Amino acid sequence: MNILIIGSGGREHALAWKLRQSEYAERIFVAPGNAGTAQVATNVDIAITDFEVLAKFADDFDIMMVVVGQEAALVAGIHDYFKKLENLRHILVIGPCKDGAQLEGSKDFSKQFMQRHNIPTARYATFTEANYVDAISYLENHNYPVVLKADGLAAGKGVVIPQNFEEASRQLEGMLHLRRFGEAGSKVVIEEFLEGIELSAFILTDGKEYILLPEAKDYKRIGEGDTGLNTGGMGAISPVPFADAAFMQKVEERIIKPTLAGLQAENISYSGFLFIGLMKVNDDPYVIEYNVRLGDPETEAILPRIKTDLFELFRALHDGELDNFNLEIDPRTAATIMLVAGGYPEDYGKGDVISGLEATNDVLVFHAGTTQNDKGQITTNGGRVIALTALGNNLPEALTKATTAAEKITWKNRYFRKDIGFDLR
Ligand code: AMP
Repeated sequence: MNILIIGSGGREHALAWKLRQSEYAERIFVAPGNAGTAQVATNVDIAITDFEVLAKFADDFDIMMVVVGQEAALVAGIHDYFKKLENLRHILVIGPCKDGAQLEGSKDFSKQFMQRHNIPTARYATFTEANYVDAISYLENHNYPVVLKADGLAAGKGVVIPQNFEEASRQLEGMLHLRRFGEAGSKVVIEEFLEGIELSAFILTDGKEYILLPEAKDYKRIGEGDTGLNTGGMGAISPVPFADAAFMQKVEERIIKPTLAGLQAENISYSGFLFIGLMKVNDDPYVIEYNVRLGDPETEAILPRIKTDLFELFRALHDGELDNFNLEIDPRTAATIMLVAGGYPEDYGKGDVISGLEATNDVLVFHAGTTQNDKGQITTNGGRVIALTALGNNLPEALTKATTAAEKITWKNRYFRKDIGFDLR
């Protein structure tokens, strides 16, 4: 079968790498891909939201499965587009239609959804420019810190956590009046700050049945000791030691099952991954956010731990057999470290030649922002450049392996955090 993967990050490289191992996968294409996906699949130069061209490509190349890595394509309705076309309706699209993608595409929608279905989450209220005055008085009476979230997609940057009223009202003005996040911030969710420790749970679901995938913890801040600006993610660890069986049982009973029941009750069909960002408060899970696709770099940590053929897992989704599917998990620990361009998440350079990629046979190398120049050299092409994953018999072993490999891969001003996973040791 021919497969098309949509996206260009380390997540999509990991998906292509994993699907490449399946005996059922014939040709694998990645649109638009990167220099790493080109090593395990064929890149096609089509933008992720150019549905017309993607649809024509899928038809021409006899694609049977489309795996959507990036949320923007889902929120813009790629699945709906394929479903609408007679000649493409048979394609299995891994990723929900527009209605399901609202769980990620609108924070206000997802908060209302959780409220309707009694899914534990932080208390909140939503405001627009029209009720700015009410928003200010809400902030005046709120405890601090408080969490402000732009309603729409903001590439992981739409959340701020002001420490006091002055800062909060300035941020609110930036979002609602000055449109710092564009239209995404035309509505703002103001929510209670949850004190706890974060982790991410992942399922694959057909909207009714589901299978729980390995959990992960990611590291969002640029600086060591979780300081500085938020990024797309600087590293990840799987499994998460504090997510024991009793806790994950609570996640399934209080969050995953009610979420799927809620989708069904609202006639929202869903197929694909659901990523649940969680805060563990004391011993109880609360939802921080839903994402309607896998995370990046969490994918680079969890896929290497899944021994089962990913294609077979997708086939089980198609056949409605996820509940009884036997997922084989590698018990070892995966540690993923992201190598980024100096200056990221603010301004950074591109086009720097990357060296040392060949000296790392002990780890998995997933490309994110990379490309190949006319001389055939691999160069940087984004803020997050390379994700390295090491498997070890325990966390320190995995971390040592990943860090040793990270030292070897370099370019001008490359940076990575040396303390990924330290809080869990
Ligand atoms: P999100 O984009 O929703 O994942 O939010 C980005 C980050 O903000 C999360 O990873 C958390 O670290 C933090 N965050 C979001 N909501 C809350 C909350 N209610 N309480 C505490 N931290 C939060």
